[in-house]
Amino acid sequence: MAGYYVHIPFCRQACRYCDYYFTVSLKYKEELVDSIVKEIKNKKKYFEKQEFKTLYFGGGTPSVLNEKDIKRIITEIRTHYNFVSQPEITFEANPDDLNPTYLKMLRSEGINRLSIGIQSFHDKDLNLMRRSHNAIQAIDSIKNAQDAEISNLNIDLIYGIPGMSFMDWQENLEISFKQNVTHISAYHLSFEPGTVFDHWRKKKKIIPIEEEESLEQFKYLIKKTAKEMFLHYEISNFAKEGYLSEHNKNYWNGIPFLGIGPSAHSYDGRARSWNISSIKQYIDKTQNGSFNYTENETLSTTDRYNEYILTSLRTMWGIDLNEISQEFGINYVKYTEEIAADLFRKNLLEKKEQKIFITPNGIF
Ligand code: SF4
Repeated sequence: MAGYYVHIPFCRQACRYCDYYFTVSLKYKEELVDSIVKEIKNKKKYFEKQEFKTLYFGGGTPSVLNEKDIKRIITEIRTHYNFVSQPEITFEANPDDLNPTYLKMLRSEGINRLSIGIQSFHDKDLNLMRRSHNAIQAIDSIKNAQDAEISNLNIDLIYGIPGMSFMDWQENLEISFKQNVTHISAYHLSFEPGTVFDHWRKKKKIIPIEEEESLEQFKYLIKKTAKEMFLHYEISNFAKEGYLSEHNKNYWNGIPFLGIGPSAHSYDGRARSWNISSIKQYIDKTQNGSFNYTENETLSTTDRYNEYILTSLRTMWGIDLNEISQEFGINYVKYTEEIAADLFRKNLLEKKEQKIFITPNGIF
């Protein structure tokens, strides 16, 4: 089984905290869709034997695409690749794009899961972060999606925003539960180099919140989601039973995935590769029939072991010592136990049978 990812690097406006690869100019949208369709066909040979379980449209903002674009991309994928009979097909979208007509179209194209970039239900936070939607649109988008019978709904939320009080955060969660969303991805605001927020922080135009406040908001998130019967299955991800993101689980479980589009990453189980982070160069090369815009990195055993530790510790499934033994050998099991011993004593990790988990203390 494998996962399929398509990167759409366009956004309507630049959020002040974002360091993803995107552009706000839609000038090359048509050419980019042409190139993506070409890349889909070309990459087929590398993943011919795989059966795909998930398809994920991420960005940027995939909801800048119109019906024609989406149809072209999905048709091309379905023509050249094998999928299980009912794949999870996720589409990232901004609330202001999710009107009933657009949602009906997404549904008819087979999209059965949405990841909506809500971030906050408060206009003051949305304005500060320079999001393109407002609080009313945020609530409407969820309702519209449910009316269009897309009930597998993730919303992204950000906490630790400067000026966000504990009560604001409580309200954001209350509203989310009231809207019956099935999945929440909640991230602490970070000040990434090169972003407007990072620049403002250096100029003292914006002051990050105190660490105790961050901790209080994160603890509340964990407590409240548990009370609402959400599984805390990854550090930042919470889902109702039956609504865990299959696509993200693939990443965390080291399942191969194919990435299409500028800056998209792929992983075949041993080596990682990634496309050039330039829309123009990606288009030029693809249109010329040259697909040599990809860089590769073959992972050593130690690299793969390190990735396994980092990703599995983030999840509720933890580190499986039997899996380490099979995949990397007994010496890696010994090494893991040696390193973990001190963290057991500090109550940051715990061991249950042959598995190691991060403790609630360790998460913080
Ligand atoms: S919409 Fe998403 S990808 Fe685009 S700038 Fe905002 S956070 Fe970044």
